[in-house]
Amino acid sequence: MKIGIDIGGSHIASGIVDNKGVLIDKVARDISSANIKSEKQAQKIIINIIDEEIEELIEKSGFNKKDISVIGLAVPGSPSKTAIVNTVNLHIKKFEIAKILKEKYGTEVKLKNDGKCAGFAEKKFGALKKYDDCVFLCIGTGVGSAVFLGGKLLQPKAHPGFEFGHMIINKNGNQCNCGNKGCFETYASMKRFKKLAIKKLGLKSDIESEELQRYLRNNIDDNKVVQLIDEYIDNLSIGLSNIINIFEPEAICFGGSFSYYEDIFLPRLKESLKKYVFNKDSKYDLICAELKNDAGIIGAVEL
Ligand SMILES: [Zn+2]
Repeated sequence: MKIGIDIGGSHIASGIVDNKGVLIDKVARDISSANIKSEKQAQKIIINIIDEEIEELIEKSGFNKKDISVIGLAVPGSPSKTAIVNTVNLHIKKFEIAKILKEKYGTEVKLKNDGKCAGFAEKKFGALKKYDDCVFLCIGTGVGSAVFLGGKLLQPKAHPGFEFGHMIINKNGNQCNCGNKGCFETYASMKRFKKLAIKKLGLKSDIESEELQRYLRNNIDDNKVVQLIDEYIDNLSIGLSNIINIFEPEAICFGGSFSYYEDIFLPRLKESLKKYVFNKDSKYDLICAELKNDAGIIGAVEL
């Protein structure tokens, strides 16, 4: 059996994936990243959660530990073949995780960038199946991405590349966890959108995502809500038009918690992009992911 593990900024999800790329079972646990103060602490939390989740999957499935043929990890940042590297949201500089898991489970362990994993799964099995030239953007805690041209995932040798989240769209802009200012994800991530919504609309600081969605839908014509959404969409359009101008994709697919706001964001984004895209006759579909939160797990074993 193959085990895919998606390490996100706010949770770790693990699942069993069959030979056809179908997710058979899945478990997830939250990481309260706000409480993580050191790299050592982050490493300990990650390993403990992974152990618990694999144990739970094994127990539920009736498989044995030695039935695991591969463990695939989808991780943020620029992983090497053996280590999680530069995961700014979890304060990790370098964590040699493959060695630990390999010793524990006696199996092949592979690491890939999470945006590439999720994009690869959407391209092979999900919303991007019918497109050759397309872009996948996972908009959640940060912004992850993958680009396909002629049906193939573009993969540079040195690093995963296509770090659209850290494309600078305002040189004096918001401070990013990477150290730079004005990175695209400091405007486009759902983490920042939520923060902005709480500030501009005077909402309680611990508002749940479902509650925020409901509030926005119920007050969609309210002046403050219109301003909030307009500002978000405008910044998103600036980053996105750069991507469209470079790759001329046939489709852009959005994953992550962004997709819960599909009805609010996509029609406005479509309109707003017309202002910024260079080739005014460029044609591209704006769509949301099909595999949703399962894409990272599936891609982690498939890519
Ligand atoms: Zn950055």
